[in-house]
Amino acid sequence: SSIPKIVILGAGYGGILTAQRLQKELKYNEADVTLVNRHDYHYITTHLHMPAAGTDSIENTRIPISNLIDEFKIDLVKSSVQEIRPQEKKIILEDGTLSYDYLVIALGGEPESFGIPGLAEHAMSIRSINSVRLIRKHIEYQFAQYKNERNAQERINFVVGGAGFSGIEFVAELADRIPKLCKEYDVDPHHVNIYNIEAAPTALPGFAPELVDYAMEVLRKKGVTFKMGVAIKECTNEGVLLATGEEIKAATVVWTGGIRGNHMIEAAGFETMRGRVKVDEHLRVPGYENVFIIGDNSLVLNPEGRPYPPTAQIAMQQGVCCAQNVVAMIRKQQLKKFIFSNKGTVASLGKGEGIAVVGQKVLTGWSAAQLKKIVDMRYLLTIGGITLVLKKGRFL
Ligand code: FAD
Ligand code: NAD
Repeated sequence: SSIPKIVILGAGYGGILTAQRLQKELKYNEADVTLVNRHDYHYITTHLHMPAAGTDSIENTRIPISNLIDEFKIDLVKSSVQEIRPQEKKIILEDGTLSYDYLVIALGGEPESFGIPGLAEHAMSIRSINSVRLIRKHIEYQFAQYKNERNAQERINFVVGGAGFSGIEFVAELADRIPKLCKEYDVDPHHVNIYNIEAAPTALPGFAPELVDYAMEVLRKKGVTFKMGVAIKECTNEGVLLATGEEIKAATVVWTGGIRGNHMIEAAGFETMRGRVKVDEHLRVPGYENVFIIGDNSLVLNPEGRPYPPTAQIAMQQGVCCAQNVVAMIRKQQLKKFIFSNKGTVASLGKGEGIAVVGQKVLTGWSAAQLKKIVDMRYLLTIGGITLVLKKGRFL
């Protein structure tokens, strides 16, 4: 019989962890492993808000995949996946096709626009290295243009739609960057506005209220204007229209209003909820015992029956479990149940500030910011060992 073929789609949090575990577990010639990714680098999605605002470099946020895997053991294919055909066990790439015996889908999510008119055309979103380069350059360009146009207030009005973790972390970085941009471009900081607009009554809906208050206070002090309990209902080339009828003119709109599953998951014919598949206890698509979905495209319920939020933390744990299960299938052994172990949540609020919940403990300020750095370093250590920590770690 021929060697089983394993194909992993996506080299983000879930995909890299799966690939690394497979390369460790599998014996020589036990399986062929192919990892497909659009770029030849892995990016640290959880850092993207920083290069987007311009408070950190792009290079600190990405790592060549060849540094993370053993290319003697894993075939790296740099290509864009176009279509998943589970009936034929085939993957259509932009430049070819692949067939598989076992498939791991780890393509990450997509911005959820809820059908809001104009968002796709006029708003930018924080989702990849290319998208954050655009945001960063766009912001700098607005400052440059402001100096060449009289009274062009919309050039220095910044709207961030959605005050979930992504929105909050991004406005914090933006607020840290504005004073520097003002100095560089000779703009009076008092003239700049950062609006964070949230449909729910508070920022970070569902999060511990004392931490939400803390976060909003820190950000208000940095100059962020919150508009809570009001939804963005349209985005135009002039700015945003709110459900109250108010219009905010802004040349920059960054949408952090949520994410959904990748459109290719629905197109594959799987049953989905907001583009995500409710996977079985072994992380497989119901009805397709050789197809695993992990990360932002999977839906896993907590013991109370509510979906876990899609995070890097769960994607990584799923990657480990999924690799074990693929190996178990090949060896005709029993599969493991996936059980999420929540290590806590930590969000940065810009330089030296943050909020965190770890078990029953809550942390704010400097200690939360330190914890964030530890979490980041642990990730680098997990995927790339001490060499990577020294290369990309933020120690200050
Ligand atoms: P991703 O990590 O998004 O990886 C998907 C991979 O697939 C990418 O490499 C991409 O290039 C590739 N890909 C996509 N489409 C194609 C295609 N068609 N063809 C080929 N390759 C493709 N979570 C936390 O737990 N903690 C945090 O602090 C945190 N901070 C965040 C901050 C920000 C600004 C954002 C946006 C998210 C944050 N998250 C955080 C959420 C976390 O980043 C995601 O849940 C996580 O990245 C999901 O992992 P994944 O493996 O599903 O996909
Ligand atoms: P999210 O879904 O958590 O938040 C989106 C926010 O946008 C919500 O508060 C929602 O009410 C709001 N919104 C939706 N439509 C709106 C509208 N029309 N007008 C105004 N507001 C609107 O999305 P996210 O922040 O991108 O986070 C995605 C996932 O990534 C989550 O699971 C999150 O936990 C995770 N994440 C974690 C961290 C961290 O742990 N530090 C950081 C970023 C993201």
